[in-house]
Amino acid sequence: MTKGTILIIGAGGVGAVVVHKCAQNADVFTDIHLASRSIEKPNAIKKDVQKRSGVTITTHAVDADKPKEVAALIRKVKPVLVLNVALPYQDLSIMDACLMTGVHYIDTANYEPIDKAEFEYSWQWAYRKKFKDKGIMAVLGAGFDPGVSNMYCAYILKKHFDTIRFVDICDANAGNHGKSFATNFNPEINIREVTQGVKHWNKGKWVKTPPIMDEKSIHFTFKYPVVGDQENYLLYHEELESLVKNLPGLERIRFWMTFSQNYLTHLRVMQSIGITRIDAIDYEGKKIVPIKFLKALLPNPASLATKYTGKTVIGCIITGVKKGKESTKYIYNVCDHAECFAEIGSQAISYTTGVPAMSAAMMLMKGIWKGKGVFNMEELDPEPFLNVVSKNGLPFKVIDFERLPDTLTA
Ligand code: NDP
Repeated sequence: MTKGTILIIGAGGVGAVVVHKCAQNADVFTDIHLASRSIEKPNAIKKDVQKRSGVTITTHAVDADKPKEVAALIRKVKPVLVLNVALPYQDLSIMDACLMTGVHYIDTANYEPIDKAEFEYSWQWAYRKKFKDKGIMAVLGAGFDPGVSNMYCAYILKKHFDTIRFVDICDANAGNHGKSFATNFNPEINIREVTQGVKHWNKGKWVKTPPIMDEKSIHFTFKYPVVGDQENYLLYHEELESLVKNLPGLERIRFWMTFSQNYLTHLRVMQSIGITRIDAIDYEGKKIVPIKFLKALLPNPASLATKYTGKTVIGCIITGVKKGKESTKYIYNVCDHAECFAEIGSQAISYTTGVPAMSAAMMLMKGIWKGKGVFNMEELDPEPFLNVVSKNGLPFKVIDFERLPDTLTA
């Protein structure tokens, strides 16, 4: 098969980019279906896609927490695959629906139980046998990081090294949206992620360090290409878990993300007054979850796009060995918020997530990636995927570089 029907679930910032990009590749995605909790958001995206690319999509309302409801929609739409860009809470229910109906599955973030701010692949890796037995494929974490970051490692390994010793993933958003505080993707998921305990992998074990708001958090000034000096904070990110398993010989992997003082101050205050809590509290006789209330107050990340300026720079600094000789490569992408807005009305964080998600869907649709079971990105061929990602707006550059010092986390 080289083309067919896609069902996208989730009509937020990332969902909008995925639909625009599928519409730009209408020779592959011949029928585009978009479903979300309510029909209003899919319909708004439908209108915009029609205006920009002249492609008509079909919209649906679905509660993706209910596998039977999703399965009924899949039976109606008959897609080749389901692309899940709803929230991590829905991963397992959508995977269950794919198993009921025998269609492939892709997502961009690993499963999180709603009552526990903890992300790990164990829940989804437990589906390996079920997907294998059913003869279908699940691809996990097909955004930028995770996603392209995993594939940058796989690509550099394939092209330059026999083994990889050290990886530092560096993620900078040097953009300005003009708000006093906002998150770049779903506020609830974003705040749960950045307030977690931090860990990195070193010499065969996980090393725990203080969270980013803590005065003892680990950070340093890194000179990024194009955007220059930015403060890089050590953070735990989900791709570390799979890369540790899938990169043979890996000695250390760390994830760094930039945060402004303003962002960290807001986060500290919000945490100290309890508004980031994920457990329900009593409020005037009603149960409310503070972080969900906070989400309702904060700007919708997609709405930031109109005034966003500046760039993101995300990539991997990778030290490896080829024929006994060690060297370091830096592979990265630069993406401009305002250019994303001019093209499809989105900001760069949604754009850098949606383009790889569409590209992974194209790999499955065209039969370039084949497999039965549950896969992390780096287990698949990085080259055709990165070619499509590059052609669709996110080219990468590889330069010779210096290994980041061990002493940063010593
Ligand atoms: P948004 O909150 O903007 O969008 C989520 C969408 O999912 C909304 O349309 C929402 O509907 C819908 N949704 C939520 N619950 C359900 C449900 N039960 N049934 C059906 N639809 C539902 O999020 P983003 O677009 O910012 O992020 C989407 C995903 O992308 C997240 O999982 C996020 O973690 C991931 N991501 C991955 C990145 C990467 O690089 N790998 C980077 C950034 C994001 P409603 O608004 O009505 O609730």
